[in-house]
Amino acid sequence: EEVDELDGAKRMDQKPGAGFKGGSLDVRNLGMAYGELDVLKGVDLSVRPGSVTCIIGPSGSGKSTLLRCLNRLVEPKAGDVLLDGESILAMKPEKLRRRVGMVFQHFNLFPDHTALENVMLSLTKIKGLPKEEAERIAKARLADVGLASRQHHRPSGLSGGQQQRVAIARALAMEPEVILFDEVTSALDPELVKGVLNLMADLGKHGMTMVVVTHEMGFARRVADQVVFMDEGRVVEAGTPEAIFDRPQSPRLQRFLAEVL
Ligand code: ADP
Ligand code: MG
Repeated sequence: EEVDELDGAKRMDQKPGAGFKGGSLDVRNLGMAYGELDVLKGVDLSVRPGSVTCIIGPSGSGKSTLLRCLNRLVEPKAGDVLLDGESILAMKPEKLRRRVGMVFQHFNLFPDHTALENVMLSLTKIKGLPKEEAERIAKARLADVGLASRQHHRPSGLSGGQQQRVAIARALAMEPEVILFDEVTSALDPELVKGVLNLMADLGKHGMTMVVVTHEMGFARRVADQVVFMDEGRVVEAGTPEAIFDRPQSPRLQRFLAEVL
């Protein structure tokens, strides 16, 4: 597993031409409620093209809900989100989700399909590509994440780390402008976490715009261009990793860091 984990990062480094065209996001006064429960209370956030934004904060602070608003898995009730300057509220959700990919904590792979088929399915079903082209792209993306030799395995025959890399390959295959990651290493055995984080760091280096909800403070410090601390549906503090981790301003962030670091 370890050799295989590192393989993915190496392969990408060998392809200097394979840069991504990351898009920008502008979140403006975003509000969202589940029924009576106000979960996002006016979130503002700017994400530069090709940057990595890590979102940290206590459980229940609205991190997942914010990500879900960004590709409209849930509908905001106020405010707006601009993707490359264009309101996502004016887009068809299916179209938006081709441009803004998402990777989840529990992989969400189809258990009865192989790794290759899992990556191919969104290309044939959502993008409407012919099977041969979908297969060519899917194989290339699985190779990028170091899983060429595992392409015919079903999820049950793969480690958690490998399954998560299939999910990342599936997101990449759609050629999104932004990828959202929601605690993607939280369900992994500790020894598999590093490989997935290294792959994500590598995507960031290659210019993918990424918004990453994570408890991995080491990753946030090492990889993020911007760290955003959320609490109770608001952005309490945002800044460089140095500003957030070394010079936290608000008592709430200071308390949070004291608990998690
Ligand atoms: P986080 O990801 O930071 O833990 P969430 O965005 O998942 O926070 O949740 C924010 C708040 O919204 C919490 O109080 C949670 O209980 C509530 N919530 C999340 N999902 C739902 C849902 N589908 N229906 C009702 N309430 C929800
Ligand atoms: Mg969450």
